[in-house]
Amino acid sequence: MKKALFIKNLSNKQPTKDITLDDIKNKIFKSTAKKEVIVKLSNKITFSKKNLPIIAGPNGVENRELIFNVAKFLKKIGVNILRGHAYKPLTFPYRSKTYKESLSEGMDWMDEVKRHLNMKVVTEVTEIRHLDRINSTADILQIGSRNMQNLELLREVALTKKPIILKRHFGASLRDMLGASEHILVEGNNKLILCERGVSVPHTHKDTSRFMLDVQAIVALKELVKFPVISDPSHASFWAPWVSPLACASVAAGCDGLIIEMHPRPKESAVDPLQPLNYKEFKKLHIKLKKISKLFNKKIV
Ligand code: PEP
Ligand code: MN
Repeated sequence: MKKALFIKNLSNKQPTKDITLDDIKNKIFKSTAKKEVIVKLSNKITFSKKNLPIIAGPNGVENRELIFNVAKFLKKIGVNILRGHAYKPLTFPYRSKTYKESLSEGMDWMDEVKRHLNMKVVTEVTEIRHLDRINSTADILQIGSRNMQNLELLREVALTKKPIILKRHFGASLRDMLGASEHILVEGNNKLILCERGVSVPHTHKDTSRFMLDVQAIVALKELVKFPVISDPSHASFWAPWVSPLACASVAAGCDGLIIEMHPRPKESAVDPLQPLNYKEFKKLHIKLKKISKLFNKKIV
């Protein structure tokens, strides 16, 4: 553990301080354990100190054609992990006419993609009642930011023993995030990947930023934990032109993986059409990431 972060936090007597040594000893000791954790999906694809896996795909698994097109494109350029949600929480309860959750049918399409293209799949679990269906397909189960402290969901997802991406809630301190991660670890599942995806602060939810990617949180988490820490610049910025610079900043901050939203025709994306990269933009970013990751002793996988 680096001294710098804790020099000021020597006791619990400073209520304004975030994570204390007492927390580390008694409340989040599994999350902050010193042993390096590698989350392995296959011999080639691991989340570790050395690697930088890229997870990419559309927001929702809207239809079979979309998910196959995207998966084929990704496979061709060497991206091995597909994201896409068949079950999706939305900020507002009203869904556009063009969008409905594809639910178990969407998971069937994901199954086909896996079989035909040998890709790994990340998808979100919104509720316990969907877990069995999602678990039979997904290689990584995502807990979305809105569910970060849904403790029953954390427990049930942990019990599957599958790798888990835990997204930070946009209003949560790192202390709260590590409290949530401890709820997963205490169930005996340490295949944990932590994800920074932007925070809400007074000057966000404006044209100039929806959320603010907390790059500093990546640096801080890397000091606090030995689990992979990844970044989702797409959900943070909500704005495609900023995704590439924020992805690069995340790599420079030390992230161990990225989630990038992309779509063949972003404007037609049924959810959040301003944030996905198109194929050309994604390809350009992928080339850039291959180059800069070397500077930080990371290999894109
Ligand atoms: C998502 O990954 O599509 C998503 C909704 O992310 P978040 O939970 O970070 O908003
Ligand atoms: Mn989304």
